[in-house]
Formats: sequence, structure tokens, C-alpha cells
Amino acid sequence: MTNLEVSPQQEVCPPAAAAGPCLELWPEREVPLGGVRAMNVRRTLPQRGLPTIGAWCFLDSFGPDRTAMSVLPHPHIGLQTVTWPLAGNIRHRDSVGSDVVVRPGELNIMTAGFGVSHSEFAVLPEGGDLPVQRGLQLWVALPDRERHREPAFEQHRALPRATGDGFTATVMVGSFAGAVSPATMYSPIVGADVTCGGPAVLPLEPAFEHGILVLDGGLAVDGHDLRPGPLGYLGTGRSELAVAAEPGTRFLLIGGEPFQEELLMWWNFVGRTHDEVAAARADWEAQAGLPEEAAAKARYGLVRGHGPEAGAEAGRIPAPPLPTVRLTPRRRAAKG
Ligand code: MN
Repeated sequence: MTNLEVSPQQEVCPPAAAAGPCLELWPEREVPLGGVRAMNVRRTLPQRGLPTIGAWCFLDSFGPDRTAMSVLPHPHIGLQTVTWPLAGNIRHRDSVGSDVVVRPGELNIMTAGFGVSHSEFAVLPEGGDLPVQRGLQLWVALPDRERHREPAFEQHRALPRATGDGFTATVMVGSFAGAVSPATMYSPIVGADVTCGGPAVLPLEPAFEHGILVLDGGLAVDGHDLRPGPLGYLGTGRSELAVAAEPGTRFLLIGGEPFQEELLMWWNFVGRTHDEVAAARADWEAQAGLPEEAAAKARYGLVRGHGPEAGAEAGRIPAPPLPTVRLTPRRRAAKG
């Protein structure tokens, strides 16, 4: 998915500070959408004061909504997109030639590297009501030594399941409770979709920081009640996490080694400097209107099937204007 904000702010993400165990609740915020599409999108990363959890640098929840998701071609650099549908199917097309449908239980990983472009559309049934769309879109920052690599895409249709003390989990990326995801990642990281319905003890990597986003139900952590909405930040230094969950509770667990590089995020780009991001934007705008073969050789390549012959799907998402000011770095701050 694209960052749908009409006027995205630059997010300067300083390196993480060692924190130790904690529980902080970081509120979700509604993302103002451009255009006429009315999809409910809530963002819980990045936050002022909490730019990353491990290399996870972006977390959007969308739906459930009966709406025809249609995200035209748009660019990315310096990140991996991690797409995890919870309801509804999404057709993904990209500039490395992918054209696939991703369904609930399946994972799309797109590595932008130096530059990629892609589109995402709801798969609509023949006639009848619009399907319910619900899902998660996350970004993982690529470390400096990997961020200029060639773009790539992979889909995983059968992810490993882990079971443990009071829980079951699907391991999306990294390893959790002894199960290892086949997804290609470039930093020490974990992402899991966890189900539990009572007391449970989750094994954690103490060198990682972790966060929890409740999807359904609710659970008690360190005496706090976590519900759908805010992101619960757990800090580092936990080798396990005891929770008490309502029946039918489902949550996203993300974590990773605290990311030690300063990031500059703007629109769909994860870079390091203002000038680099400005160049990334200029390169996308320079591709507008290029003939197909020239676009295919340009930085962000060509997402086939969106040419003038594509009717309602023709087009691309133009980059918003760059802010006129260079922002100063934000510091990770403890939540009061
Ligand atoms: Mn995208």
C-alpha cells in the first residue's frame, strides 16, 4: 500500500536507545486520505518518540471496510513492504514483473532496495456486494549495507505455525517459538500473528524490543488492558511475556534488534538524508509520461497493466510536494 497522506511529513528517526522492559501505549491515528476512496486506515508506526521497533518503521491497519481498494502504481526505496491480509484478497503487481493475488494467511514481501513501484487492488467478485477488506501493511527499513540492492518480490502461501504455553502463532517473518519463517529479511527481526484465549506465556528474544497490536479481543499485560487501537510497546530485555487473554484474542507481535541507524522517512521513501529523498521524489516524477519501454528502464521500472489502455486502472500516484523546510531529528522519548 502507499502512504495515502495528502501532505506527508518527514519522519526523522534517530537510532534507538536501550530501554529495558516497559509497557507504553502509543495511540493510533487516522490517516487522512486523498481522493474519493473511503478506506479507514489507522497508523501506529512511526510515532513521535517511537520511530521504529527493531527495523519495523511503519504499521498501518486498514478496514474492515466494504470498499474497493485501488492503489495505483507508486514508488518505494530503502524498505521492505510486508502485506498481511486479514479479510479480502489483494492483487499485487510490481515493476519486477510480479502479478499475484494475496489472501488471508498468505504474506507478500516486496524489497524496494534502490527503487521499485507497485499497485494494489481489491479482488472484486462478479456482481454482488463489495468484499470486506481488512489487513495490515508494514514496512521494514533496510540497513544501510542492503538498501541499495536490486528490488525483489516474494510471496509465501504456507507459513510455519508455532504453538506454546497457551498460544498458537503464524510466523510471518523471523523466528518465534521455534518456528522459522522462510521470508527473506535483512536484520534480526520477528513478526507473528498470535492467537490465545486465556493465560499464555510467549517466549521472546531478550535482545529485541517488541510491540503488540491487538486485532481482536483483549489481553492483560503487566497489569494493563490492551485492546484494539493503540500499539503496546514492550521495550527490550524480556525473555518471556506472560499475558491473560480473553477468548478469541488475536494480536500482531513485532520485534527486532533496536535499529541503530538514523532514518529519514518521507511519503513512500526510507532514506538517510533530505537530498536523497528529494532525488527519489524527482526520479519518480521524471517517469511520468515516459513511453513504456523508457519507463521500464527507469529507476522505478514499469508496473505493467496500468497504461492508457487500462481504463479505470490507468495512471500513477504523483508524489506530494516536498516540505520546504528541512526538519530536525526527532528523539525517542519515554511516554509519560
Ligand atoms: Mn506501497
